[in-house]
Amino acid sequence: MTSSAGRRTGGNAAHRVPDGAVSAARADVIVMGGGCAGLAAALAAREAGARVILLEKRRSLGGTANFIQGVFAVESEMQKRDYIAYSCEEALRSFMEYNHWLGNAALARVLIDRSAGTIAWLQDLGVEFTGVTINMPDAPRTYHVLKGAGRGMVRALARAARARGVDIRTSSPVVGALTGDDGLLRGVRVKTAGRAADLPCGALIIASGGYANNKEWIKEYTGFDLDENLFSVGNVGKTGDGIRLAWEMGAGAEGMGVLQLLRVSPWGREFPFMSSVEAACIQPVLWVDPQGRRFCDEGIAFYDTSTGNATKRFRYGCTWTVFDDNLKRHFIEEGLDRGMTQRILPGHRLHDLDEVLKRLVALGSPGLVSADSVEGLAVKMQVDPTVLAATVAEYNRACEKGHDPLFGKDPKYLRPLRGPMFYAAQARTVFLGTLGGIRVGARCEVVDEMDRVLSGLYAAGNDVGGLHAESYSMRDTSGIASTFALVGGRIAGENSAAYVKTPGRV
Ligand SMILES: Cc1cc2nc3c(=O)[nH]c(=O)nc-3n(C[C@H](O)[C@H](O)[C@H](O)COP(=O)(O)OP(=O)(O)OC[C@H]3O[C@@H](n4cnc5c(N)ncnc54)[C@H](O)[C@@H]3O)c2cc1C
Repeated sequence: MTSSAGRRTGGNAAHRVPDGAVSAARADVIVMGGGCAGLAAALAAREAGARVILLEKRRSLGGTANFIQGVFAVESEMQKRDYIAYSCEEALRSFMEYNHWLGNAALARVLIDRSAGTIAWLQDLGVEFTGVTINMPDAPRTYHVLKGAGRGMVRALARAARARGVDIRTSSPVVGALTGDDGLLRGVRVKTAGRAADLPCGALIIASGGYANNKEWIKEYTGFDLDENLFSVGNVGKTGDGIRLAWEMGAGAEGMGVLQLLRVSPWGREFPFMSSVEAACIQPVLWVDPQGRRFCDEGIAFYDTSTGNATKRFRYGCTWTVFDDNLKRHFIEEGLDRGMTQRILPGHRLHDLDEVLKRLVALGSPGLVSADSVEGLAVKMQVDPTVLAATVAEYNRACEKGHDPLFGKDPKYLRPLRGPMFYAAQARTVFLGTLGGIRVGARCEVVDEMDRVLSGLYAAGNDVGGLHAESYSMRDTSGIASTFALVGGRIAGENSAAYVKTPGRV
């Protein structure tokens, strides 16, 4: 876990203001960020009786929450109706084992325990779910699929918040905190239409969604060069504002450098998002490294985090997905082995693959190439033809024997490459968000390195560290990022509302 020492420079500042300089509070609680953590926090604080202002940096609400497909929960009514017996204890154990017990188990426990109640809370607010399913093979059924995806949930949360009197202000980035002579929080500095204004408050909930667009921090904490060998998906303006603000107030740092990684192929602006070609390229076919050698059991294709982690090693140069006409026919006639989000499910037949593949290969992009021989393909991939030919020959032998001596891939995915045409698509390491920054306790209160509470300061969502130790746990707990954001937001909202009512507080 990272130390915050020496990382409190630049950007937001904690502005010291003389007592009495900030006018009487119009808000008890201010929420920084209008994604799922911020909206849930604002609503919960309001429901607990606080006057709440939510400040959102962008023109519209939702952040990456707009893209959420499914929310993890255990012991929900929907699961009980479907006789799904998976328990909170089992989920906690699986999550903590995945993270080698490096994370904040007390917080994870609370977040998992309140996941079912949060599904019910969302349903009461008008959020609809189409069912509970798995997102990864052999996983417990914990993935609550949102009707209308995250956008629908964001709309419902915002509607409810406005109806209950939350003052929501978009295009209003928080640029700093205001503190009194005692160092305690007095309010925030916000920029609206280019002008700074000071807003007093009793408590601040930080929910600014991480630092996925902060090149400097991505380099410092992960070693990657953003937009060169690592690409963020769906994040805009995530510069770590809330994390920096909290550190400047004295918060501890935790979990910096943890990313929600996956592998996307083909990669490049010229390729349409979620096309049939992308669906074909993420299958457990043949994957090779920048030298043209296999580097993993491609059966991990079903587990996004594992694919991202396996590709992450190849920081310089990209990995490739290689297939042929034989496999193409398989995807058209038999269907896909793995699905792509909840829209394209396993077994889906890619009827338009032939036509789309022809069209995209014709673009002449280095991201997707074809040839009538393995050696010819290698030349276009800028890979040594003898290495790729040896890899394909060895792979085909494994397919004939039904046994992969290198990585023990499940024989049902061992399908030889015979041509007549061969295809290769560049695969890139991408990430959906950062998962760390601010150290918090089990009440989502911000704490320093020694776990001393910073009065009036709370945090939730992707700004919070200490839950995911090394990488996002997707195998058994797919959808837990949004659960942690929603439940953490609610907890922060409730506790901040209670804090501002505490007799004798400043
Ligand atoms: C493509 C994609 C698909 C995903 N699918 C899933 C899924 O199916 N299930 C799942 O669990 N998770 C999923 N996630 C992850 C999920 O979206 C996040 O974990 C979750 O949204 C985090 O919530 P948050 O509130 O912390 O951040 P966000 O929801 O991103 O909200 C943060 C908000 O803070 C605002 N902000 C930033 N700086 C400031 C500032 N200075 N002042 C005011 N506001 C500021 C941002 O503009 C943003 O609106 C997905 C992510 C992506 C990108």
